[in-house]
Amino acid sequence: MSSIRLSPALQKLKPSATLAAAAKAKELKAKGINVLDFTLGEPDFITPENVRLAATAAMNAGHTHYTASGGIVELKQAVCAAYQRDYGLQFKPAQVLISCGAKHSIHNVLSSLCGPGDEVIIPAPYWVSYSALVELAGATPVIIDTTEASGFCMSAEQFKAAITPKTRLLMLNNPSNPTGCAYPVALLEALARIAVEKDILVLSDEIYEKLIYPGAEFRSFASFGPDVAERTIIVSGVSKAYAMTGWRIGWTIGPVDVIKAMDNLQSQETSNPCSISQYAAVEALNGPQDSVEAMRVEFEKRRDYVMERMRPWKSRFGITFAEPGGAFYAFFNVSSCFGRPLAGGTKVADASEFCTALLEKAHVALVTGDAFGAPGYVRLSFATGLEQLKAGLDAIEAFIAG
Ligand code: PMP
Ligand code: GLU
Repeated sequence: MSSIRLSPALQKLKPSATLAAAAKAKELKAKGINVLDFTLGEPDFITPENVRLAATAAMNAGHTHYTASGGIVELKQAVCAAYQRDYGLQFKPAQVLISCGAKHSIHNVLSSLCGPGDEVIIPAPYWVSYSALVELAGATPVIIDTTEASGFCMSAEQFKAAITPKTRLLMLNNPSNPTGCAYPVALLEALARIAVEKDILVLSDEIYEKLIYPGAEFRSFASFGPDVAERTIIVSGVSKAYAMTGWRIGWTIGPVDVIKAMDNLQSQETSNPCSISQYAAVEALNGPQDSVEAMRVEFEKRRDYVMERMRPWKSRFGITFAEPGGAFYAFFNVSSCFGRPLAGGTKVADASEFCTALLEKAHVALVTGDAFGAPGYVRLSFATGLEQLKAGLDAIEAFIAG
């Protein structure tokens, strides 16, 4: 073992904090402990039946072979048709690349466009894999801190001030994991205008596009005119909207040359995403869309319940948060709990210690905000049933009350 030397990039790479937190919770569950697990951001619903049946039909029809490395043309067409139907945006199949989940899409975009010397602007709090994937591509993440007061949105001034001659890309996640922040349309448009003026590419991660709550609005970044669209690389997929995390289908929509380069990379790296999953995704996009709304409504009920429970925490415990306009996360600041006795006299000094103590003493699993570039915060995924949410919030409240 001692003679094995990892590559310099891998020596620095940490495992995904969300997956690591979920693994830790699972480990305790395997020991027979009843852990209330709010770590992973994945819908608890089973994939809709029409999609499951389409996968079975695809297998039985013999779609069990390699496909084109960048995905089947039917799925690229279905992606284009969905953007036309849902947002009035026109793309051609040559602008679409299908990959093994949106995470793979992001990796492909960064590996195709960025390298040493390039800077990538990332508003914090950001999804755990963003900075790691930028570094893996050899580029430098430039983290822009945002605050609860702005609903965790990066302002136009902040964006402008962060741009240097080395800036290659802005990575924007709207609605956001972990904050649930949904950018107001006017602010999104202001960012888009700056991207055009300064000729910056924007990787717009829109994976939570269908999970929007009253008061918030989703606009695809590419919708602000052709000059914006030609600088926008959309990443999205079926994981969240169609409860298809395990199927591993994501996509990138962008300029034809970039998509072609990414396809070359994918053809050397992974070949095609799973053929059966691709046919299932065609049905998800082309088939009836009512299950998407039905699941969104359930998430909205859970969001409302979680917020109702958490609002009194502000005055009772000094816990602060911005209410999520989209996605399925509650992201709250627990720094008022540091250094004072929590349940059983436990004391913690930071959010990571808070999560460890909460797991050990109260058997509730959250993810520390440190992993999202937001010290002092913790993330609770409410993509789980109301009963579990009630039990979890009761346990967190008792733990914090001390
Ligand atoms: N982007 C964000 C913001 C996410 O939260 C996730 C997590 N699933 C992904 C991308 C990756 O999605 P997928 O499971 O399709 O790889
Ligand atoms: N995106 C989800 C999360 O943030 C799934 C886990 C992951 O891919 O990191 O929990």
